[in-house]
Amino acid sequence: MKLYLLISGKYGSRVVNNLAEHGMAGDIVGMEEFPEDLPDFIEDFASYVPQNLPPADLIIAVGLSGDINMVVPEVARKTGASSAIIPVYDPQQMPPGLQQEIQEAAPHVNIVFPKPFCSLQATGDPFIDEFASKFGKPQLVIKADRYIKKVKVLRGAPCGSTNYIAKGLWSTPSEEAELVAAHKLHNYPCNASTSTDPAVGDTSMHLASYQIKEAVKRGLGYAIKSAVVDPERCKPDQCQEECIKSCPQVLIGLDTITLREDKKASIDPATCGYCEICLKECPLDAIEIKNGPFELKGYDLM
Ligand code: SF4
Ligand code: SF4
Repeated sequence: MKLYLLISGKYGSRVVNNLAEHGMAGDIVGMEEFPEDLPDFIEDFASYVPQNLPPADLIIAVGLSGDINMVVPEVARKTGASSAIIPVYDPQQMPPGLQQEIQEAAPHVNIVFPKPFCSLQATGDPFIDEFASKFGKPQLVIKADRYIKKVKVLRGAPCGSTNYIAKGLWSTPSEEAELVAAHKLHNYPCNASTSTDPAVGDTSMHLASYQIKEAVKRGLGYAIKSAVVDPERCKPDQCQEECIKSCPQVLIGLDTITLREDKKASIDPATCGYCEICLKECPLDAIEIKNGPFELKGYDLM
């Protein structure tokens, strides 16, 4: 795969270094670095499009904020790339209007906007999927008894946080590992914003922590805590399914809350970040946070 990178700032550099360190150096056919102090609104973004671009399959833009992201369609056109990834880590960086503008400027390019980068999973696009087989939503294999004995990273966050967290989990009490992992993410120079994104009702930083918590839960085979629906109280015909509409994990594309066959809401403990938003939104008080363990399916490694 031929990968062309558009980067800015320390976050962009961190992602490039992590990709290169973990086996993608040979795929990178070129890179353009933009200054961090570009204005959010740029009239003539075409003047920022790099010259002499090589042929590429996939464009990744990391750390670019505001209108400078509009170079992506033109870079894709000039390189012949059919796919692009523009991770969103802050609501200011990629307002919904700008996202739409980028998509409209590149109808020939399959562009995904993972929110944040560590929520990226396979999409059905061959180049995005090849990248997402190595980098994106964290996946861990964990050996543990009462304590964590060994952690192997199957897929790591593009910024390198998963490898940092995996190293720090050794000898952690297993029941605390989920929370320790989230805490370690906060210690890592993660670029996810602490501003609430109005489109999902939560912060990118929280969304990032839900992804690493899920990796730990699946690695261990159980979750210690989750929101749980009381089927007696849940009556979706008397609400507008507010829980589903308000869950930030659902809003970034996960099946955290679904309606069962009997038309009762059901919450997946693997992906529930116990943010409590659904508890507040349910008009029938049908949801509460419960302590587990909740048994989970691990990864299908075949
Ligand atoms: S849990 Fe509450 S908000 Fe969700 S479907 Fe049931 S009644 Fe509606
Ligand atoms: S607590 Fe509710 S809203 Fe929050 S992640 Fe879990 S299911 Fe979604």
